[in-house]
Amino acid sequence: MNSSHDQLVYDIGNKRYINLGKHCTLKCTFCPKTQGNWDLHEYNLSLHQQPKAQDIIALIGDPKEFEEIVFCGYSEPTLRLKELLLVAQAIKDQGGRVRLNTDGLANLVHQRNVLPELAQCVDALSISMNAHTEEIYNKHCQPGLPKAFDAMLEFIELATKTIDDVTATAIDGLEGVDIAICQQMAEQRGAKFRRRVLDIVG
Ligand code: SF4
Repeated sequence: MNSSHDQLVYDIGNKRYINLGKHCTLKCTFCPKTQGNWDLHEYNLSLHQQPKAQDIIALIGDPKEFEEIVFCGYSEPTLRLKELLLVAQAIKDQGGRVRLNTDGLANLVHQRNVLPELAQCVDALSISMNAHTEEIYNKHCQPGLPKAFDAMLEFIELATKTIDDVTATAIDGLEGVDIAICQQMAEQRGAKFRRRVLDIVG
């Protein structure tokens, strides 16, 4: 099978999703990908190679036909920042709405504040908080970089000053995670909060 068979975009409900890459900064224990399973609904999101921005743009269609176009797959979209910005800008240019699902570690990875660049072409951010303490975060998310938990919290706070629609998320049902405290921490930083349910992706 060659890359032309890769599932670069996929639809769930009235949203179109973009599968931008192969790699993550985290290795979440609760993620199907960590267990070697790249399936999501009826789609298989494993990629043979990293897609080019133009290949994705060609598949988006009319973004106004969808409630929003969401960057979300079994990878961290901000690891491919250049492609992410190109695709998101193309969607905005065609009048679409863009949401980015992210681990909130882009500033740690890129060693600079990338939020002003994202704000040019991203309408909404969903940031995976996943835990209310560093210890529990590290246990479930297994970050490859040190200080990831603090960097994620700082990213949430900075994001709310840059982008209007910012939601932090955590998964109800993960051992040791206190959803009420996660919500409090999100709201203290000016973000909305969404409780996710274990084993339901999207
Ligand atoms: S960041 Fe997302 S895709 Fe990556 S391992 Fe964690 S849950 Fe899976």
